[in-house]
Amino acid sequence: RAKDDGGNEHRSYEPLLHANAEERRQLEFALRQALERRELVLNYQPVVDATSESVVSFEALVRWNSTDHGPISPGKFVPIAEDTRLIVPIGTWVLEQACREATRWPEHVRIAVNVSPEQLFEPDFATTVVRALTASGLEARRLELEVTESIFLRDASVARSSLEQVMALGCTVALDDFGTGYSSLGYLRKIKFSTIKVDRSFVTGAAQDSKESLAIIRAVVAMAESLEMSTTAEGVESAEEADMIRRLGCTKIQGYYFGRPMPAEDALRLFRRRPAVPERLRA
Ligand code: C2E
Ligand code: MG
Ligand code: MG
Ligand code: MG
Repeated sequence: RAKDDGGNEHRSYEPLLHANAEERRQLEFALRQALERRELVLNYQPVVDATSESVVSFEALVRWNSTDHGPISPGKFVPIAEDTRLIVPIGTWVLEQACREATRWPEHVRIAVNVSPEQLFEPDFATTVVRALTASGLEARRLELEVTESIFLRDASVARSSLEQVMALGCTVALDDFGTGYSSLGYLRKIKFSTIKVDRSFVTGAAQDSKESLAIIRAVVAMAESLEMSTTAEGVESAEEADMIRRLGCTKIQGYYFGRPMPAEDALRLFRRRPAVPERLRA
């Protein structure tokens, strides 16, 4: 058939490839204006203590409602933002906005912000964090930064220096999506992560009786404990999964079962539900 097309056997694939490249180009164009058009918003997903089930933190998750293209998931636009380095200004906005919002929560509730490698490789990353903290008035100890193993694919010393600077301020650093990326564990000796986030794929696997997933979660929990790091299980969707994760000894739980990512106002309402004045003091 290809021969009948004049010997161009790639022809039939071209429209598809072209459409993807064209879509990407259009999204990139729209993304360049997203910040000034105020199309980005943050949602907040609760993370609970595995034992008490009380909210210990919220993770800020960026959402894009494009005027031209409608809602676009971060799984789609964050990689484009990273390739074009637009993630640097977007990431700065996310940090500032998340810190500002967190000042409205009770003091024991922390905020976790995802940080892309591109941001960490900016020499003034720590300055950006200081600015976000100063402008909002948020205490450094209430801010956690989430990074993935992908930061170790490049010159780890640059990322390490950025992270050491923010840790010196009092912020903590969590290792996100653990078990899905770069396989060397050597970097665990070099960066003092406060938390290892066990990727949702292991949680889902363990819930489906995968012996391998169970064994891996067990091993990660044991390793984290001896390294004096805590563990968060990602993607817990049911009471059964929460029970299993608790039995495995994870310290914290995040997932649809305890709460979906929600607008700032809804997150705030979780705290306002309780009366501001203790029951016994009221007339
Ligand atoms: P992540 O940091 O691992 O965030 C967790 C993702 O899992 C979120 O997807 C969240 O909505 C989803 N999730 C949480 N609980 C459950 C569950 O029980 N079941 C299922 N099926 N999913 C659950 P989301 O919001 O689509 O974000 C996807 C990824 O995009 C994030 O993964 C993160 O890598 C990236 N991202 C999101 N916001 C930002 C940001 O502000 N900056 C950067 N650099 N990346 C971000
Ligand atoms: Mg994360
Ligand atoms: Mg994650
Ligand atoms: Mg994940």
